[in-house]
Amino acid sequence: MLDLQSLKLATAMRSIDPSRQLCRYEVPGGGVCHDDGCNDVHISRLQIGVNWETAEPSDEETANFLLAAMPYEWQAKNHVTVGKMMAALTLVRQSASLMTLSYEERIRRALLILEPQPPPGVPRTS
Ligand SMILES: [Zn+2]
Repeated sequence: MLDLQSLKLATAMRSIDPSRQLCRYEVPGGGVCHDDGCNDVHISRLQIGVNWETAEPSDEETANFLLAAMPYEWQAKNHVTVGKMMAALTLVRQSASLMTLSYEERIRRALLILEPQPPPGVPRTS
């Protein structure tokens, strides 16, 4: 499946005060910060504290991300553009009966709109 986590993370980071910096123990340290008094941004705590749903990327961001992530052959075969991708995402999101779908599931359905067959890397749910 597509790595949507990185897209969500980037979106979540944008909602944070830009004057604050990432904790150096985590980035680029790759470790864990045990300093309770540390006021830097911690990705590990972010994933628990921040509401993932409110950090959802816009259709345009998602479309650009998908265009970068999907195989070029798949895009060429289906004549996929940012506009078409956004239209598909909007179509899925506006469909009333699909309101409860997760972000991941809506992306999967949007991709299916662009192409009846599941593209490479997207598992078929049957
Ligand atoms: Zn820290």
